Amino acid sequence: MPTFVRTDKCDGCKGQDKTACMYICPHDLMMLDMDGSATGHAMKAYNQEPEQCWECYSCVKICPQQAIEVRHYADIVPLGGSVQPLRGSDSIMWTIKFRNGTMKRFKFPIRTTPEGSIDPYGGKPEADLSKIEENGFFVQVNGYRTGDPSELIKK
Ligand code: SF4
Ligand code: SF4
Repeated sequence: MPTFVRTDKCDGCKGQDKTACMYICPHDLMMLDMDGSATGHAMKAYNQEPEQCWECYSCVKICPQQAIEVRHYADIVPLGGSVQPLRGSDSIMWTIKFRNGTMKRFKFPIRTTPEGSIDPYGGKPEADLSKIEENGFFVQVNGYRTGDPSELIKK
């Protein structure tokens, strides 16, 4: 169920160094074909390894042009149908298109706090990445027991 880019809609995120889809893909699959040498479509994004796609829908949701779609399994979404999200700052709307042309839209809230208001550290000190290799470096400063590698099931 990998994604594909609609070249008629993609604007290459207006030539930014890192496009929205490249930024969000957890598997680094999305690429921008700057000169068209990879796909024949210059300044359009593409999924460079569709068989590796996690089908997480992140790129589909973040694309500001709604240029990314998903090739659905035919038993879930028959040929001609589509499932397309439009994400806002506080809600997401899913447009379901049936192959007979019927269209349904469902809108859901996606957060209970204002966008940009989240404190990622929740009152804890900011993580010091120079200590990333240290065992339990983040939790020990708050008085919790340090992790013990010998307790890991898989080492
Ligand atoms: S996020 Fe959308 S518009 Fe931007 S490069 Fe990717 S597919 Fe194109
Ligand atoms: S669906 Fe997820 S894994 Fe697949 S290309 Fe988009 S962001 Fe990457």
